[in-house]
Amino acid sequence: MHNVVIIGSGCAGNTAAVYAARASLKPLVISGHEPGGQLSLTTLVENFPGFPEGINGPDLVENIKKQAQNFGAEYMHGTVDEADLSKRPFRLNVDGTWIETRTLIVASGASARWLGLESEQKLIGHGVSSCATCDGFFYRDKQIMVVGGGDSAMEEANFLTRFGRQVTLVHRRDQFRASKIMLDRVKANPKIKMLLNTVVEEIHDVTKGVVTGARLRNTATGEVSEVEVDGFFLAIGHEPNTKVFRGQLDLDPDGYIVSHGGARTNITGVFHAGDVQDRTYRQAITAAGAGCMAAIEVERFLEAEGH
Ligand code: NAP
Repeated sequence: MHNVVIIGSGCAGNTAAVYAARASLKPLVISGHEPGGQLSLTTLVENFPGFPEGINGPDLVENIKKQAQNFGAEYMHGTVDEADLSKRPFRLNVDGTWIETRTLIVASGASARWLGLESEQKLIGHGVSSCATCDGFFYRDKQIMVVGGGDSAMEEANFLTRFGRQVTLVHRRDQFRASKIMLDRVKANPKIKMLLNTVVEEIHDVTKGVVTGARLRNTATGEVSEVEVDGFFLAIGHEPNTKVFRGQLDLDPDGYIVSHGGARTNITGVFHAGDVQDRTYRQAITAAGAGCMAAIEVERFLEAEGH
């Protein structure tokens, strides 16, 4: 029987583990299908306080993990396939093994959607990014491409014009999900060029290990073109990792956990931390703060119950 199980080993989960382990709760962290979370997909993180020269995303998240382990946190590889939160102790099926816990912190994050191209996956962190706030800075005076037709794509395209020489917005249709005001801003921005009814067929150049361009296809005319690109940003949505909690935790229509104040969910003893609940900020520092909050709530909860 565990005092606390933390699902997810990104910034939120690992920070929750530091706090819970330091409070002698011996937390068990289930690493999940993307160990290290979104930080493991990025390169230099320049806006995490305390690192004036910046720190590599994978190093940052690994350091927090080591810090948690130094205080006695345990890590288990695997993903939660099933969860029974109907009564306490809560039961989790991790790759076929059932484990029991008095409390649970869900820090399973939200995964960025990708196009699914092999070249895209190979170039993540080498010109392909799903976070303009994190990586836009690296493309000063460069050619930037943003894919998507929602508010995120509009916001990122606008934001990236602060850095890039030109931003090309590529969208697969000629109708937008984005709100009118966001779309109007993009249309009014002289540094943004729009390519509609256009899909990305390939990102170059895997052999060089860095993004140099993309092959595009116009779905209306069938015309194929090659364009130069230095920074390739996906803004085609995120999916919170909450499938196993459907019908148990309160989720919004997109699957994000609905907070019941602080780090609380609708189920007593189950807490949330990080992007699995936060669709607005999605930053390493806010996820770390949320992990801290969840662990403090767990500590107080267990103490009140006499554990
Ligand atoms: P979204 O609204 O779901 O838009 C996703 C976009 O990506 C759509 O245009 C979609 O195209 C496209 N897309 C999806 N899969 C694709 C694929 N495989 N290939 C090419 N294109 C693909 O997601 P979002 O923009 O991240 O926004 C999510 C929510 O957050 C929305 O409610 C949004 O309003 C909100 N948000 C608000 C703000 C703000 O107000 N400041 C900023 C960001 C986000 P189709 O249209 O063809 O399906």
